[in-house]
Amino acid sequence: MKKTREQLKDKKRIVVKIGSSSLQHPETGEFDYIKLEVLVRELCNLRNQGKDVVLVTSGAIAAGKKAVNIQPGDNEIAVKQACAAIGQARLMMTYQKIFAEYNQVTAQILMTKNTIVDNLNRFNAHNTFAELLKLGVIPIVNENDTVATYEIVIGDNDTLSAIVTALIDADLLILLSDIDGLYTDDPRKNKNAEFISTVERIDDDLMSMGKATTGSNVGTGGMNTKLIAAKIATSAGADMIIANGKDVRILHRIMDGREYGTIFKSHKDENFYLEDFVANMNQ
Ligand code: GLU
Repeated sequence: MKKTREQLKDKKRIVVKIGSSSLQHPETGEFDYIKLEVLVRELCNLRNQGKDVVLVTSGAIAAGKKAVNIQPGDNEIAVKQACAAIGQARLMMTYQKIFAEYNQVTAQILMTKNTIVDNLNRFNAHNTFAELLKLGVIPIVNENDTVATYEIVIGDNDTLSAIVTALIDADLLILLSDIDGLYTDDPRKNKNAEFISTVERIDDDLMSMGKATTGSNVGTGGMNTKLIAAKIATSAGADMIIANGKDVRILHRIMDGREYGTIFKSHKDENFYLEDFVANMNQ
């Protein structure tokens, strides 16, 4: 039997999530074009290997704030939603320009909680993804922050990317974050914290290890949201990896079977229903 990391080479349908903090220069909040370019090249290279690829990307709100000179800390809901509308278009424009260099067609899919909870919406979203992937397109997904009110918000793209993984029956989710993976404690605060390379099964002890914050002031996902994402992805039958997105070339290194990040091994749960899980989130 092939080893866990070796098996990654055989994955067919891969969702990659990148967070705002990995896309911007920390000093200015402007896009880091080099990182974006490397990310796009990595994703196109996965497509060239015949794999289905989906990108879940944050950065809409941050890009919108930048465009109209709103302070990053201004989180008034109407301001944020307006900035999401401005920034999402900018984000897509930037991605499409770079993907076009590789002749790769992309599509935009914006989702809310209702996309999953409502049976007809979920059915349509599932079919749209299936059709796009059949056409060789890379769907680029974000939350529809402009219309997502309190009741229908998913809230963070870690969870959103796991929901997408479950919806499209992907076999691998890679979360690119600003940390190397899972530790027994917060390594920024506890120097004895140990790195965990493989998680065979997610239990209650592990869930309690998640901390609600990250070091960055952009993006919304902490370790807690990553563990919830792991729960969704692994229950739906996918492996999930958390890895550091500071060098995006880590993507092909992971796919080569090298030991980067933390891998959560899939444990398909026949009693896991995505729509029920999402309906009960944040309650
Ligand atoms: N959807 C938000 C955005 O694009 C980000 C959510 C997150 O960072 O997890 O700005």
